[in-house]
Amino acid sequence: MAPRWLQDFRDGTADQADLLGGKGANLAEMTRMGLPVPPGFTVTTDACRAYMAGDGALPHGLVAELDEAVVRLEDTRGKQFGDASDPLLVSVRSGARFSMPGMMDTVLDLGLNHETVKGLAEASGDAHLAYDSWRRFVEMFAKVVLDVDAAIMDDVRSTHLEWAGVADPSELDTDAAHDLVVAYRSAVEGAIGRHFPDDPREQLQAAVAAVFRSWNGRRARDYRRMEGIPDDLGTAVNVQSMVFGNLGDDSGTGVVFTRDPATGEATPYGDFLLAAQGEDVVAGIRNSEPFGALADHFPDCHAELLDVLDRLEERYHDMCDVEFTVEQGRLWVLQTRVGKRSAPAAVRIAVELVDEGLLEPAEAVARVQPTQLERLLHPGFDAEAAFDVLTTGLGASPGAASGHVAFTADEAEARAADGESVILVRPETSPEDLHGLISAVGVLTSRGGLVSHAAVVARGIGTPAVCGADELVIDLDAQRMSVNGTVVEDGDLVSIDGTTGEVVLGEVPVVVPEPTPELARLLDWADDLRRLGVRANADTPEDARRARAFGAEGIGLCRTEHMFLGDRLPIVQRMILEDGDGHWAALDELHDLQRADFEAMLEAMDGLPVTVRLLDPPLHEFLPDLTELRIAEATDGLDDAGQEVLAATEHWDEHNPMLGIRGVRLSALEPGLYRMQVRALMEAAMARVAAGGTPRPHVMIPLTVSGPELAAAVAEAWDVIEEVVDGTELDVRVGTMVETPRAALRAAELAPHADFCSFGTNDLTQMTFGFSRDDVEARLMPVYLQRGLLPADPFATIDVDGVGRLVELAIEEGRAAAPDLEFGVCGEHGGDPASVAFFDRAGLDYVSCSPFRLPVARLAAAHAALAAGDAATVPAISREA
Ligand code: PEP
Ligand code: MG
Repeated sequence: MAPRWLQDFRDGTADQADLLGGKGANLAEMTRMGLPVPPGFTVTTDACRAYMAGDGALPHGLVAELDEAVVRLEDTRGKQFGDASDPLLVSVRSGARFSMPGMMDTVLDLGLNHETVKGLAEASGDAHLAYDSWRRFVEMFAKVVLDVDAAIMDDVRSTHLEWAGVADPSELDTDAAHDLVVAYRSAVEGAIGRHFPDDPREQLQAAVAAVFRSWNGRRARDYRRMEGIPDDLGTAVNVQSMVFGNLGDDSGTGVVFTRDPATGEATPYGDFLLAAQGEDVVAGIRNSEPFGALADHFPDCHAELLDVLDRLEERYHDMCDVEFTVEQGRLWVLQTRVGKRSAPAAVRIAVELVDEGLLEPAEAVARVQPTQLERLLHPGFDAEAAFDVLTTGLGASPGAASGHVAFTADEAEARAADGESVILVRPETSPEDLHGLISAVGVLTSRGGLVSHAAVVARGIGTPAVCGADELVIDLDAQRMSVNGTVVEDGDLVSIDGTTGEVVLGEVPVVVPEPTPELARLLDWADDLRRLGVRANADTPEDARRARAFGAEGIGLCRTEHMFLGDRLPIVQRMILEDGDGHWAALDELHDLQRADFEAMLEAMDGLPVTVRLLDPPLHEFLPDLTELRIAEATDGLDDAGQEVLAATEHWDEHNPMLGIRGVRLSALEPGLYRMQVRALMEAAMARVAAGGTPRPHVMIPLTVSGPELAAAVAEAWDVIEEVVDGTELDVRVGTMVETPRAALRAAELAPHADFCSFGTNDLTQMTFGFSRDDVEARLMPVYLQRGLLPADPFATIDVDGVGRLVELAIEEGRAAAPDLEFGVCGEHGGDPASVAFFDRAGLDYVSCSPFRLPVARLAAAHAALAAGDAATVPAISREA
């Protein structure tokens, strides 16, 4: 009868990732492909789920199945568990459906005890290796499986290291390693109150249970929350026969990507370490050689491995990474998965795989996550800026950042929570540092390569990182680091560039790169797939030009208040302060300035819609601060002009300005303001027509709440439009924003008066939640998110259940009243991938977002279309390990 809770590698396939985890499914697939995989079996996620639902015992029947699987493994390997002459040893590793690198526990060299260690010494001909492996096993098993306090083990270890006068336990000679194991074991037995388990079968059962438990460890839970991985999937456990990369100079170990994970270049990229175990490479403990060095040490293995890499790419249609070991001149592949990569690499690889005939364009589009693109246009150091490079490491995760140095993850987390930008500096990081990596704006390590923990995690979360900056001497006790005589203290400001690897003392200006040709091609494919239109929020001609270069199909929101600042402020103040002629003269001046602004915007967006929102903010925003004026009056007194300003400021002062005189309400109290803006826009359009252009001016009225209110504003606008346009054929439209719950609920009432409706989801969120967008986000939101009171910040990702419900209702009722009514969104959510997916489902016509987020919105809109329609083009093989 086939076992219920586990499956041998040779019986599985790549599409079983739900059951076997990504790693297990890929081990099965490689075994099926005939690649040199050490044999083994996978305990399924079913077993993990049953374990989690139970009372702490392994699910019924699993113990017997483990015994039988071990017998099959013994037959395949020709070695026995517990054999005192040539023992079978196994590794026990977690492997969930989705990759969670380093988040769960691993036990290596399982099967060692007093007897088998002698067998290993004999069979390998290397007594030191055998006792050192036993030492590692006991350490790992105590920590991971028996849950012994690390301090107990640390004490024993330091005493023995001191006696032997060495820094690292691997430097202990064979006898000293043996002594350390004996001391460890008695410390462990004191802590757990029973014998250290020596029966390999018992060790295996306990290790499997421990890996199951690590699914719910803090690291793993934090990581899942960050990555949005469900908590109830459980992990599989891979039990694999051990091979040794540390059997002397004819052995070694490494990690290789089929392509460069930082740039995407199509040449294998990785690290290799002679005479070492796999964990040494990943932990970045010793500085490794580049992958190419494998060809010098082991030309045959190198050639064989290149062939393996080709076959994996052909099978997975993607870049893969591989952990390999050379044991006494023989190549073994220990695991593979679809490799993590930087955002630029993701784009380049997807596009080149299409060129190589391995992918369809739609599949390439599906391969790149919109959130990755957010990172692609990451800033780098401004090459024009003058700065002294303190030192250089590996550019491990792209992007540049400045922040204050923190030397521990806890410190980084605490200071980031207080609003400080922090650069986490460590010799190397481990999974325990995850919370610090997440909190920091950048990561700097003195050790480790591009596949070290810090590099992999930073790339995954899009945090700039410089790794392996080995000139840095970090003194964790003193909380300082030094490099070539320069000392950097805790809290000092440093900058890092994760593309070039440069580290600088102080702050460095940054620049944002232009999109690459590969990105342009990918986005062209995305454009062919998407249904949603994509426009930009742009307030200046320069923004408009940049937006067009980033693929904007028009301007969805031009906030005209941004044209009222700077040297124009005094004119605006005169408009507010003065009555009669002075008021109208100020409006005339503003008219001329706005007309020139609009003409340039219409030119930059010729042929595309330019949606100009009439003035929105409360007028006090253009006046001085009332408290300061009152203080000035009380201390030095104010002249007549000052008194006038004070009176106006008092007049426009409001207790709750965001719910006060703003938006369309201004037009009721500020005669001529909206007429002036519409006239300026239409005259600009006519000037563009005269210049041979095709202007498409759209007028947008903010913050409406009722039909009559909108009707009055629209009538006023059309009055001016007709007068200026005077029969010229033009695509002019007048529409409104939907920013209040009432406007959404009464969309049917607004629809007959509007050519279009654009959801202002910033205000709509503010007013639906009653959360002030200026106060709540910074102070309350972090607490709410941390306590799980909200699933996400509703100002960043649309609240589908509440605000989204209003959006759906408005579309439904608005279109019932006016079937052709166009709907868009121009709040910040227009550039957020999860929100874009919702807007596509809700049937919006377009989203509008800031120019830099346009590539993200275009790709997100394509993903939404794929999810809605032909997602079947994406292959079903396991993409994760
Ligand atoms: C909105 O409210 O979503 C909007 C786009 O307007 P603003 O952010 O300028 O209030
Ligand atoms: Mg608004």
